[in-house]
Amino acid sequence: MKILSVNAGSSSLKFQAFEMPEEEVLISGVFEKIGLEDSFYTIKFNGEKIRKEVELKNHDKAFKILMDELLEYGVVESLDEIKGIGHRVVQGGSYFDESVIVDDDVLSKIDELSSLAPLHNPAHIVGIKAAMKAAPNAVEAVVFDTAFHQTMAEENYLYALPYEWCDEYKIRKYGAHGTSHKYVSLRMNEILGRYNTKLITCHIGNGASISAVKDGKCINTSMGLTPNAGLIMGSRCGDIDATIVPYMMKKLNLTPEEMDTILNKKSGLLGISGVSSDSRDIEDGIIKGDSRCDLAQKMYVRRIIDYIAKYYVELGGCDAIVFTAGVGENSVHTRREVIDGLSVLGVKIDEEANNVRGVEQLITAPDSTIPCYIIPTNEELMIARDTYRLSANNERDL
Ligand code: ADP
Repeated sequence: MKILSVNAGSSSLKFQAFEMPEEEVLISGVFEKIGLEDSFYTIKFNGEKIRKEVELKNHDKAFKILMDELLEYGVVESLDEIKGIGHRVVQGGSYFDESVIVDDDVLSKIDELSSLAPLHNPAHIVGIKAAMKAAPNAVEAVVFDTAFHQTMAEENYLYALPYEWCDEYKIRKYGAHGTSHKYVSLRMNEILGRYNTKLITCHIGNGASISAVKDGKCINTSMGLTPNAGLIMGSRCGDIDATIVPYMMKKLNLTPEEMDTILNKKSGLLGISGVSSDSRDIEDGIIKGDSRCDLAQKMYVRRIIDYIAKYYVELGGCDAIVFTAGVGENSVHTRREVIDGLSVLGVKIDEEANNVRGVEQLITAPDSTIPCYIIPTNEELMIARDTYRLSANNERDL
């Protein structure tokens, strides 16, 4: 069965087509600068990559081209072969604890949650509607980044603010990167050969979060109401004393929007180093002797260690720690510093095994008390799996 996995942003559309249940990637690509000047798309097929510059007025146009290319490349002979299209949705609030087939009610709930994810949810709706037009016979499914975290207990998802705020204003922890945390924890359990496990999964990319996963279920996670909370990130501050916000807004006469931009786009590694939000640039800066890059890296690593330590205690031990996403999969340096910081727990690195990028690998020594693994994430595959399951069930019910 052919399944399309889609991630629609406000000006972009990433896709991957799979043959399911074999989980074979048939074609992938990304449309960029939709609705802007100089729009283009790239496609990867059979090991080759092509790039085409074309006017992309809106997402409808991008989907139309995508369907034409699927036919052109012979991925499908007829669009009816695409049985399901799965869409990544950033914010599912408390409504969704699993992936669902799209209907009017689902669309209106995603729309209602736009205030919590203003950059993402409206773009997802545009993408879903464009996909419905382009492939009207496919089942449309939505896979929420928040769904995996819905198993958290009230004491973990509530903030110690007026209790009514949760009901009245939806103020609570929802988490993010759930599709990735779910994928790597499933894979980790496969490697361990059992499912009654205590895992700490570290999704450390430009955005970053850590989850505590017990028996396959998330019990706590570092991101909060929005993806600004928890770890120090590329340009996001992570956890801070909330009172800094009104204090500095008064001092600098900032609007809420200006403050939001500082917390999300001018803080984190970028804010401290003054150099870059990209951990590769921070590593280069450290090599050149830049003391603020060094400081930024120390703070970044410290926060990761703090969260792992917190979740180790909360889980009552840990069977494995997983590193994934851009930094987690590729930064030899950051992984080493985090593991060294856990030495009090008896975690020991295997320097040679850790000296790799982007591959699944055990990176701790045989006598390490907790094994640490790199597991490259695959959110697209996770979306395809759920969409395949929902599409196949839907076909059986017809
Ligand atoms: P996003 O949150 O945007 O999905 P990714 O998971 O793709 O982010 O991670 C992107 C980040 O990964 C980059 O900003 C960079 O900091 C980091 N990264 C990628 N490759 C390397 C590398 N070789 N060494 C260190 N960091 C890397």
